[in-house]
Amino acid sequence: MEKALNSLYRVLDLEIKQGYQDKAVVGGIRQFAAFWISQAREQAVDEADKALVEQIAESLTGYSRLPGVEARAETIENIKDKLRLREERLKALEPAIAPPFQPERPPPSIAAAPPTPEAVTQELLEVPSESKPEVGPEATSEALPEALPEALPEAPAETPTIAFHPPVEVMQALDLELEPETPEATPALESESDQPDPEGLSQPVSTLRGVGLRTAEQLEKMGVESIADLLYVFPRRYDDYTLLKPINHLSYDETATVIGTVWETKLRRTRNRQLVQSVVSDGTGSIDVTWFNQPWLIDKVVAGSQIVLSGKVDQFLGRLVFQNPDWEPLAMEPLRTRRIVPIYPLTEGLSAHRMREIMKQASDIWAPRLPEPLPDPIRDRRNLYRLPFAIRQAHFPESQESMHKARRRIIFDELFMFQLGVLGLRRDWQGAPGVDIPTDIEALKAFIRTIPFQLTSAQKRVIGEIAADIAEPIPMNRLLQGDVGSGKTVIAAAAIVLVVRAGFQAAIMAPTEILAEQHYRGLSQMFGDLEFSVKLLTGSTPADEKRQIYADLIDGNIDVVIGTHALIQEGVRFKSLGLAVVDEQHRFGVDQRKALRQKGIASPDGSNQPNPHLLVMSATPIPRTLALSLYGDLDISVLDEMPPGRLEIKTSWMRPGERQRAYSFVESQVKQGRQAFVICPLVEESEKTEAKAAVEEHQRLQEQIFPSFKLGLLHGRLKSGEKEEVMRAFYEGQIDILVATSVIEVGIDVPNSTIMLIEGANRFGLAQLHQFRGRVGRGGYQSYCLLLADEVSADAEERLTAMEKTNDGFILAEKDLQIRGPGEFFGRRQSGLPELRLASLMDLEMLEIAREEAQMISEMDPNLELPEHELLQAKVEQFWQKDAEVS
Ligand code: ADP
Ligand code: MG
Repeated sequence: MEKALNSLYRVLDLEIKQGYQDKAVVGGIRQFAAFWISQAREQAVDEADKALVEQIAESLTGYSRLPGVEARAETIENIKDKLRLREERLKALEPAIAPPFQPERPPPSIAAAPPTPEAVTQELLEVPSESKPEVGPEATSEALPEALPEALPEAPAETPTIAFHPPVEVMQALDLELEPETPEATPALESESDQPDPEGLSQPVSTLRGVGLRTAEQLEKMGVESIADLLYVFPRRYDDYTLLKPINHLSYDETATVIGTVWETKLRRTRNRQLVQSVVSDGTGSIDVTWFNQPWLIDKVVAGSQIVLSGKVDQFLGRLVFQNPDWEPLAMEPLRTRRIVPIYPLTEGLSAHRMREIMKQASDIWAPRLPEPLPDPIRDRRNLYRLPFAIRQAHFPESQESMHKARRRIIFDELFMFQLGVLGLRRDWQGAPGVDIPTDIEALKAFIRTIPFQLTSAQKRVIGEIAADIAEPIPMNRLLQGDVGSGKTVIAAAAIVLVVRAGFQAAIMAPTEILAEQHYRGLSQMFGDLEFSVKLLTGSTPADEKRQIYADLIDGNIDVVIGTHALIQEGVRFKSLGLAVVDEQHRFGVDQRKALRQKGIASPDGSNQPNPHLLVMSATPIPRTLALSLYGDLDISVLDEMPPGRLEIKTSWMRPGERQRAYSFVESQVKQGRQAFVICPLVEESEKTEAKAAVEEHQRLQEQIFPSFKLGLLHGRLKSGEKEEVMRAFYEGQIDILVATSVIEVGIDVPNSTIMLIEGANRFGLAQLHQFRGRVGRGGYQSYCLLLADEVSADAEERLTAMEKTNDGFILAEKDLQIRGPGEFFGRRQSGLPELRLASLMDLEMLEIAREEAQMISEMDPNLELPEHELLQAKVEQFWQKDAEVS
């Protein structure tokens, strides 16, 4: 009933403002009462409401006859008191949940049509009856066509204004919910509309009225097949056209809606465009309207017709005008004017308006039949709309507030499903017992003594945290966050020492072959005295070697295996995997992490296998709530201290004209014995074109710029052996300058290199740039990062400036999130996370709420087996499932 009450409030307020003249509405309050009653009766939610409607109606009907201001004021106060009481009553009943939509019936006749003067600009209706018809200053005699009077509808007797609408029509025009007559809509459908109907919802969109095969195909391109899919395509944004104004009250630059009569329309052609120009008047004034390049409007916006215009008020030669406003005939149900208009993402061949029409139908008929998966207590506790209501309001909101609340509910759903899924993963994982690995402190100390540097206290602390974790029989689940170059590898190495010493195996998974090879080399060296058997397993390991490694892993002949995704292939099984390390974990998906964990420990009967301890490492610092949400209830260690003696890398953004200077600088560094990287611009088309560009750049630099230096080349198309050879030469200092594509983004560690020159720096993301930069500054030398940028967009400028300003990965990550938004930041495809349509992982507050609820429900009913969670369980499955198919 909120709608009816809202319009009532507006009328009453206006009436008070106008001093109880009974002029707030054309025809008087009495007339309004007649319309209002039928609407309010329909919207009444219970008996008490019904009684209230009758009482109010009575007061309203008698209002006009009341003698004098005082009596009228008292009556209005009276009504308002009753409304306040109602609010209190409802509050006591149920906590702020909006009532579900009432099924809609087509109005029996216009006279009985429920008028909902939503956003009624009563100002529009307020033309005083004794006032002279006003034409508006702009409407000179020239603008007033002779034919006008006949073209206009008959003005009602009590409103002697020429271009004014009879109350019924106005009321109807303002009624946002009024259905036009739709003979096709079968009453049977509507009477059932409150019943959940999952089967109906899973029908193809083509079962919607007016959706043919072609439209269905177009929708399919957006991933929409069923009606339910369609309901989950949300507006990109909304245009709020609820501000209804009389023309003489418009002001420049505001977004408003006016209702008026078309005085004339003409088509004008200029050299390069066609203009349809109309003059529209509403009795308070007139306004010029221009549509560009929509010549067909000449036949639609015809003189004498009544139309509604919504848009931004512009000006032309000092006069207020509308340019390309949205419009529709007054008699039509409001879809693109007079309301908060949803703006949908477009797909080829499907216009915004068409999409809106289809959506309106779907949300009117089908949203009410969506089953509600959220248990009531959660909805109550978190003050969330019911799903059917939320979906309808998300598409065709009645107010800004209901739109926000609707979106909030949908966002909650997404994050909640997300959390339930993540918690499920963790439960699967920690449900099995782990292996407790005693801390062999002597072995650890001996290992640390062999490291050529002093561990920082942060490194020692984290090693302690890990040692404590793995000494427990519960599988460790720890995220190690530390900025680029903070020294995470050695921590993994220490953990491996403990695990292997205790007789278990360990595995490290890295996102690129180059990084896996580097770890292989580095760790083999670190474990030099320990006689561990360390092996490398990547996609390019020869088949027979692979087979041997598989056999040795299952037999327990290998202690440490280092590799890429190859580690999670089918054939890989361990005798006793005690520790799994995932390096640069943000480059892996949920499923890949899970796959590695599940390699577990082989037991002959396959039952109740202990799970390995898991250490995931990342240089991408993310807020704690987010980390917890993304990775379940994992523990977090932070390396918040850089190894001593590191010098801040000096970063400089250079214009293309400064390239020569950059080269001279590289030259001077190399002459001092340092090494440099040159990163080629990102080429998106394919790895092949990218490789080709890199080959050319390498050749150009070698021949023309640095003929006396030794240049190396590294790109994604090289064979594994070739890559290894180049990297080895670079490590050993045989290559002075390494020309590379983004393949070297993560992990590479060559402390003698001091220059990172990035070509086309504007094309890389901030996180990537920071990772590249992290390749230098790893030793005691002053290092430099030179960013060469060609075309620089506003976003790119922000990134480059941020790079110049700070070396702090945390600050940059936050900046990156701001610029790109979390979807791109985490790279959905890479992360394997389900797609969030409305929610943002940066909505930390909602994320926290969803997490709490998910935790509570998982504690109570971990597998969602209770009958009241059946629907929820299905939804969670669907949510995670759908994505698995996509990614
Ligand atoms: P990241 O955290 O980026 O993986 P690495 O583990 O690759 O960093 O370490 C970066 C460089 O710092 C390596 O050359 C490593 O040997 C060195 N390093 C690590 N810890 C220390 C330390 N405590 N003191 C000096 N150098 C260190
Ligand atoms: Mg690393």
